[in-house]
Amino acid sequence: MLIGVPKEIKNHEYRVGLTPSGVRELVANGHKVLVQTQAGLAIGFTDEQYIQAGASIASNAEEVFERAEMIVKVKEPQPVECRLLRPGQVLFTYLHLAPDPEQTKLLAESDAIAVAYETVTDERGGLPLLAPMSEVAGRMAIQAGAHALEKAQGGRGVLLGGVPGVAPAKVVVIGGGVVGLNAARMAMGAGADITILDKSLTRLKEIDMVFGGRIKTLMSNSANIDESIREADLVIGAVLIPGAAAPKLVTRAMLKTMKPGAVLVDVAIDQGGCFETSRPTTHQDPIYTVDGIVHYCVANMPGGVARTSTQALTNATLPYMLELANKGWRQALLDNAHLRNGLNICRGRVTHQAVAKDLGYAY
Ligand code: NAD
Repeated sequence: MLIGVPKEIKNHEYRVGLTPSGVRELVANGHKVLVQTQAGLAIGFTDEQYIQAGASIASNAEEVFERAEMIVKVKEPQPVECRLLRPGQVLFTYLHLAPDPEQTKLLAESDAIAVAYETVTDERGGLPLLAPMSEVAGRMAIQAGAHALEKAQGGRGVLLGGVPGVAPAKVVVIGGGVVGLNAARMAMGAGADITILDKSLTRLKEIDMVFGGRIKTLMSNSANIDESIREADLVIGAVLIPGAAAPKLVTRAMLKTMKPGAVLVDVAIDQGGCFETSRPTTHQDPIYTVDGIVHYCVANMPGGVARTSTQALTNATLPYMLELANKGWRQALLDNAHLRNGLNICRGRVTHQAVAKDLGYAY
């Protein structure tokens, strides 16, 4: 199969759909890869590296969309890209269609086969192609929070790990899923004093086992949240209720009970945020202060470490790409129900139940 990798065109998107080592793997399996010139240059993947891995280089996106049988990307296609898709062509990327009727309509009109990373499932009920970005965001939340705690950023002027003779910072993580666990790992490495709250007792038991009791666990309820944030230097919001907006677990009134200069990092901002005072920010202007509490609410955190994120994404997507390329999309989706869950649009029809329901398409 000929697999095409266009350069991402969304504002400040430096990730790319495939690394040179991913290309090498596909080529070793008998496939051809066509990469748009400079697609990975911003994160240090040069055209020469792609050529050495076995790819050909296309001079523009039109050529990639014109020739490839499957298009591999990172972000949802922009309208100009949707119009380049051809009938029967496979598109494998993040789509996030439910809040995006325009993209859904354009993809349906393209007559292409659109498989979304975010709805591919695994045998444990997880979302294996979303998890790498949650790992990145969780780990980044601690470095973003540590920076925001510095005095020059409006923070309390507290070092996460303290020093000998001075107590470490108190980090509270609300939500102990992929983001929360990765945040806790980084905070532990920095020497902070950590508490994780989750409303799943099973999850809290797992966390207790994983960290061997070195992290405190608390049931997530309003009394425990109330009490923990009063003492906290850094609070990480990492909750997820699949398919729903994040619950507002910290209200504006509660900010007054916190220490001045404490920091809230709302990783759940892409689901509306779990603090009442959260609003989406960007890497260019990531923080703002409300009632003396510093907020960091960047909606696309992994984009800030685009090279690491690209490598993590290719690690996760490559096995599915290989299935689609080796067997052809029809057989690959027939054989693998988890990959089939990724099918959102197929030749003019919306084939994902939740997307169809949200946008009023027949299913
Ligand atoms: P996950 O499903 O792995 O974990 C979510 C956890 O939240 C679960 O353990 C669940 O039990 C817990 N939870 C649900 N309601 C709760 C409550 N009221 N109190 C405490 N815990 C509660 O999800 P994840 O992959 O860790 O993602 C977490 C959030 O981070 C999501 O909103 C996701 O979209 C977001 N995210 C944001 C970025 C970004 O760049 N901002 C990047 C990746 C993920």
